[in-house]
Amino acid sequence: MTKRRLLASLGAALGWMPFAASVPSAAQPQAKAPKSLRLYVFDCGSIKGLDPAIFHFKKEDLAGVDFIVPCYLIAHPKGTLLWDVGVIPDSAFQPDGAPVTQGISTVTRTLKSQLAAIGYTPADITYLAHSHYHSDHTANSNDFAGATWLVQQAERDAMFAEKPAGIIQQASFSALRNSKTVLLHGEDFDVFGDGSVIIKSAPGHTPGHQVLFLKLKKTGPLLVAGDLYHYPEERFTDKTPTFEFNHDQSLASRAAMEAFLKKSGAQLWIEHDRATFLKLKKAPAYYE
Ligand SMILES: [Zn+2]
Repeated sequence: MTKRRLLASLGAALGWMPFAASVPSAAQPQAKAPKSLRLYVFDCGSIKGLDPAIFHFKKEDLAGVDFIVPCYLIAHPKGTLLWDVGVIPDSAFQPDGAPVTQGISTVTRTLKSQLAAIGYTPADITYLAHSHYHSDHTANSNDFAGATWLVQQAERDAMFAEKPAGIIQQASFSALRNSKTVLLHGEDFDVFGDGSVIIKSAPGHTPGHQVLFLKLKKTGPLLVAGDLYHYPEERFTDKTPTFEFNHDQSLASRAAMEAFLKKSGAQLWIEHDRATFLKLKKAPAYYE
């Protein structure tokens, strides 16, 4: 519970409403449901020193090898969806808030502080979804175990397998085992029922990899592509990473999504692509 809510509910319980109304504006803002769809982009870190060979590229073939790790909040009049939750958990930060490096990953800000800055706490998150289970997308999952988890059956099975595949941190999402869960089986999932936020299955990178389609009023249609691609240079090639779960399935998913992009006119955001990320508005600014 936020301080303001605690104060408000205390005030209400004590029949002391003026107190709740007079909480100073310096208190954490508390977001109201927006009138129309919004998309916030958060900085959830970066990954440096990747070997381009694992993507079947030479360094000189890529504009940039380093990854960005974004997280996204979709705020809809009927609720919220948090999409991908980072590479290093907020709990790794020391009280001084200094940047944290683990291996080749670095984070400079916690996800929860970025949510708080726009008025959201983990309790305000209605739905949690990951593009896929790789550990650079799941770090803060346990903080959102109170949300309803939207996951492909094949992905969930792989996540909780006794001998999981690589690039997985089961501890980062162990609490989701008991979360309220909507299991998807490859069908489009219309999160809020009005066609504005749709999860689309795009397997191959992992067994239940998925992407997010948004219909934003001003920005227009947008596909947040997870790891369908890691670099723009991967588009229209048959290159997938060495650690791909199923290369052929990935190429089929890419073909389906390229056709969907054409049909829908949506723009494509490759999550890890630095050039894409640098151009984006970051929270507290938002797309609508
Ligand atoms: Zn991945």
